[in-house]
Amino acid sequence: MSKLMKKDEMMMGTATEAGSTSQLNTGSWRTYAPLTDYDKCVNCMMCWAYCPDSSIVVEDSKKVGVDYQHCKGCGICAVECPVNCIEMKLESDVTDEERDNEKPQPRD
Ligand code: SF4
Ligand code: SF4
Repeated sequence: MSKLMKKDEMMMGTATEAGSTSQLNTGSWRTYAPLTDYDKCVNCMMCWAYCPDSSIVVEDSKKVGVDYQHCKGCGICAVECPVNCIEMKLESDVTDEERDNEKPQPRD
């Protein structure tokens, strides 16, 4: 029979209460990062609808960035994007420029 851990036995980053993950840097678990080609994005919001971590940042009905603080790199957004404009890239290979491009900002 499995034994439930006590709160002080849990590892750092463990969500101990429902609705508390927004307070954790869950993006630190990420192995792959989503990179968006905003020139190809048609703002269909499929990535926003399917993202399990609410990490797609939307303003005025447009995708404007990805919240890397919380994105866990599951890749669901890349699979669901109908125009294949999201590439999953090994986190260690992501350049500063690519990372900056996902910071929420005005998009044409
Ligand atoms: S990789 Fe996963 S967690 Fe990150 S933005 Fe895409 S769907 Fe959300
Ligand atoms: S699913 Fe693809 S096309 Fe649709 S909003 Fe997300 S990135 Fe843009």
